[in-house]
Order: sequence, then C-alpha cells, then structure tokens
Amino acid sequence: MAQLSPDHFALTSALLSVDDAIARVSANLSPVAETERLGLLEADGRILAEDIFAPIDLPPFFNSAVDGYAVRFADLDPAGVTELALAGRVAAGTAPDRPAATGEAVRIFTGAPMPAGTDTVFMQEDVRLAGERVGLPPGLKAGANCRPAGEDLARGRLALAAGRRITPEAIALIAALGLTQITVRRRVKVAIFSTGDEIVSPGRPLGPAELYDSNRFTLQALLCRLGATVTDLGILPDDRAAVSAALAAAAHGHDLVLTSGGVSMGEEDHVKAAVEAAGSLTFWRLAIKPGRPVAMGVVGGTAFIGLPGNPVAVFVTFAHVVRPFLCALGGGRPEAPPALPVRLTFTHAKKAGRREYVRVMLARAADGVVEAVKHPRDGAGMITSLTETDGLVELGETVTAVQPGDMAGFLPYALLR
Ligand code: AMP
Ligand code: MG
Repeated sequence: MAQLSPDHFALTSALLSVDDAIARVSANLSPVAETERLGLLEADGRILAEDIFAPIDLPPFFNSAVDGYAVRFADLDPAGVTELALAGRVAAGTAPDRPAATGEAVRIFTGAPMPAGTDTVFMQEDVRLAGERVGLPPGLKAGANCRPAGEDLARGRLALAAGRRITPEAIALIAALGLTQITVRRRVKVAIFSTGDEIVSPGRPLGPAELYDSNRFTLQALLCRLGATVTDLGILPDDRAAVSAALAAAAHGHDLVLTSGGVSMGEEDHVKAAVEAAGSLTFWRLAIKPGRPVAMGVVGGTAFIGLPGNPVAVFVTFAHVVRPFLCALGGGRPEAPPALPVRLTFTHAKKAGRREYVRVMLARAADGVVEAVKHPRDGAGMITSLTETDGLVELGETVTAVQPGDMAGFLPYALLR
C-alpha cells in the first residue's frame, strides 16, 4: 500500500487555500510503487510507469503525403512549366524497384515510399498529363507533399514520459511505434463510505426523514473514470465509535479512504473525531465554496479524505482536492486543467480569501463570444444545478465581485474528471 506517516501533514486549523492544500497533500507523498505490463487497450486510462523511447523512426520511411507525381526538385524550372518523362509507379505497401533518374516523374500514391532520388511530390490535380509526358507548374517548394522518415518522432527520442495518463492519443503513438505492451502503475485502491443517519441506499424504501445516497455513486463514477479501483463500504451511522472502527478496518488494503458528510462543526458530525481516534487528523477547513469543510488525515498509514455532505460540495471538492491527490498517489503528475476565458452575464459578490466555483451554462452571444450564465439555484445541495450546467466558473481568492461583461475562467466538467 502507499504509506503515509502520521506526521505527513502538519496539523492546522487555519483556513487553507486550495493551492496550499494540494501542495501539502502532494509533498512527500509516496505513490503506489507496484507496476504491471499491460496490452495497449488494457492500459487505457492508466498512469505510465516508464519513459517510452521511440524504437523506430516515425514515419519509418520517406513517403508521399498525397496521390501524385514524385520528382527531383533540381529538375524543375522555377519560372515555367517543366515537362518530365513519366517513369514507373509506386503504390502504398510496395518498395520502388529502382531509383528515379534525372528528368523522370514517378506516379506515386499516399503512403508509398519515395523512389531514391526524388524529394518532392506534385498533387495529381496540379499536373497535366500528355501521353508519357508530365507537365508540372512552377511554384512548388522543395520537399512539398512528402514526409521524411522520423519527421513525426525520430528513433531514440522520448515518445511518452512516465507519469502521464494513457489516453487514446497516447495509444495511437504507442501502436504506431509497434509496441504491444507498456508498464503502468497499478490502480489506486480507494474505499468509500457515506455517513449520516438520514442516508438510505437507492432501492430501499424511504422513511419520512430519509434521503437517498447520491454521494457514494457520484464518487464511484468519478473514481472509476480516474482509473481507481473502488470498494463501496456503504453508509455509516452518525456514531463516532462506529465510524472510527469502520475507518480503521478500511485502511487495510486501500491506498485512500474517502468519506462524505459528517465533517462540519455540528454535534452530529463525528468523522473528524473518529479520524483522530483511529489515526490523525490534519486539516479540515478549506477556503473553497462550495465545500469548506474538508478533512484530511492518516488512518493506519493510509490517507484519509473526508468530503462535505452536500452533493454539489462533494463534486467540487472531489475535482479540486481528491482528483489531484489521487493522481499523485497513482504516480501521475497532477496538472490543474486550464480554465477557458468566458464572458459573464451575472453579478456575483464573494468573500476575499476563498476560491469560489459558480455553476454555469454556456451560451454564444450575438457578438460570437461565449458567455457563462449562472444557474438560478446555487445551493450546495441542488443536484439539478449540476445536471443543468456545463461547468464551473472559477473566481479566485482576490476577487470580491464580478459583473456582467467581466471575463472569468471556465472549467468544463469534462476537464474535471
Ligand atoms: P453533513 O455534512 O453530514 O451535515 O451533510 C450535509 C448535507 O448533505 C445534509 O443535508 C445531508 O443530508 C446531505 N448528505 C450527506 N450525505 C449525503 C449523501 N451521501 N447523499 C446525499 N446527500 C447527502
Ligand atoms: Mg451528516
């Protein structure tokens, strides 16, 4: 398991900025060490554990980028039409049987190897054919319409660096290099709980003071997309001893124990005390809205994160705390996704010193600029404010108010998972 010492995080009760929190949890963290060799498709979504260097040139040989005629550039008249003798034909998948002589044009197709001596290709639509003569217009640049060996990636160069996530784009490159297996880190193992006496699993009858658990499902879906293996440990009662025992048991065999609910200041919020009883608590006030109460700690050498209970706060704090943490734990390099500039249509006042995320829909204004429209219901428990929006506008710590017409950074949900 990924080990964390109890003093891994310095205990603080201060309000921590999101960046400080991420820096604290990522510092000195030792990622999961075990690796496995996997086939390309099995490795999709996993963290690469090795640097991959190109074993061959990409493309492997000098070839034509179009259907047309391969020529020697030196044969061309820069001022007028050049007539060359049509000599030979090379289709993709066949090697030219001889070099091209001076004064010859070779019929060639996309992906076919360039005959020795040729260095430039005319597109077939630009060429005038007259019997065995080929008429070529002036103006083409040397080396046009062909692809030198290694122009994409030269043999021996770094193709993919350890720590990156395997994506379909990465799979394209690995396959093009002829590799069939790569070494990736093992999946991070995460145990999850919901907490609260009022929370009931979907599928059960609902009592008069109960509501269905959504957080456990949100978290499983988000964790699975990030390549983690999830153990769903159900719902814990609002009882310190029960929570403490469950956390201690879950610490075995997992790299991270993740809960939602029960981390606020109320008498019925037992998670912080339970973590302190079973291990050590680190901090629990994050300068983020929605989602201020976020607890972190260590239980039995395993990392613990306690998210707030409100479903929107769970979503936002997962994106900004759990996601980078999980990425680092899995051996990846956490990168904050770039916020895209959008124009705001709303007025919003906020406190300085905390970062706020506003749920917004996007719409294109008459002048073509993409605008962010604030969802009318912004409570941290409003799940429809997630399903009816496209992403989050990020208002930084120093911002105290925004107005219609202001520009701000937008994070689409797709970038947060
Ligand atoms: P708490 O932080 O435990 O006080 O919870 C804050 C709010 O989130 C309360 O209204 C809870 O009922 C709600 N809540 C907590 N856990 C869940 C959950 N798993 N699914 C849906 N709502 C929840
Ligand atoms: Mg609760």
